[in-house]
Amino acid sequence: MHGIASITTHANAVTLPVRGTLPARCPYYRGVADCLFCAIAAGDVPATAVTSTDQVLAFRDINPQAPTHVLIIPREHYPDAAALAAADPGLLAEVIAQAHQVAVVEGISGGGYRIVLNTGAEAVQTVPHVHAHVLGGRPLGWPPG
Ligand code: 5GP
Ligand code: ZN
Repeated sequence: MHGIASITTHANAVTLPVRGTLPARCPYYRGVADCLFCAIAAGDVPATAVTSTDQVLAFRDINPQAPTHVLIIPREHYPDAAALAAADPGLLAEVIAQAHQVAVVEGISGGGYRIVLNTGAEAVQTVPHVHAHVLGGRPLGWPPG
């Protein structure tokens, strides 16, 4: 049938007709439709993972601005750091702790590195799923642009 895709759930093996394409394979997908980083967390968009826990995923930025440029996201969707801080400060702390763990794994924790959470339009946040950038491996200028 034209324009109708078919997906099979892994939970009960019921095959459902689904109109168009979905960002996720499973109707029980808990991410936000059309969110790039939810799709990466679900494994539907490929990314190069650096570290991974039940709650947090770190993967390499597709357009690196330094020798190490890794993004850390909570698997659960929050639009930005302000929303995550308000809803679940413990999870925000885990994102920051994982950012430091990435710096250790990447071998840049001794020399120094930067953690950036662009939040909102004036900070030029381009992906509305909260993420921390870890940048390092070269001297980093200040102030930022
Ligand atoms: P923001 O500007 O929102 O703080 O940062 C978004 C980051 O996501 C950018 O550094 C951008 O290069 C990165 N990015 C955008 N699309 C993709 C993608 O499909 N895969 C990966 N790994 N990174 C992406
Ligand atoms: Zn999301």
